[in-house]
Amino acid sequence: MSAVGESVPMTAVEDGLAHEVGAEDLSAGSEVGRYRALCGAVIGPAALTVPAGAPCRSCAVEVAPPGPEAAGVDARRSRRAAASWLRALRARTARRDAGATLSGVADDVAA
Ligand SMILES: [Zn+2]
Repeated sequence: MSAVGESVPMTAVEDGLAHEVGAEDLSAGSEVGRYRALCGAVIGPAALTVPAGAPCRSCAVEVAPPGPEAAGVDARRSRRAAASWLRALRARTARRDAGATLSGVADDVAA
């Protein structure tokens, strides 16, 4: 019985990874609060307020066997996105600090 193609990512409290849970296991698991992921792990779902974890590699293979190249590009892209986000955050913080000491609220009005 295969649920490939009808799975949803679910972050596990056990390992923090986002496992793929098939549609059938999803309905079965909802009765007991534990879900069997495609990789075979039985997981408890993390709270929805918790950011999604890194995708479980074993589950990812079950869903769609990735080429090693595609996976590498994805990892690089998300790392770069995180880095630029951090840079922007730091720049914003630095500007705010400078504005507070030099020109007060004028900086905020101009922005
Ligand atoms: Zn998994």
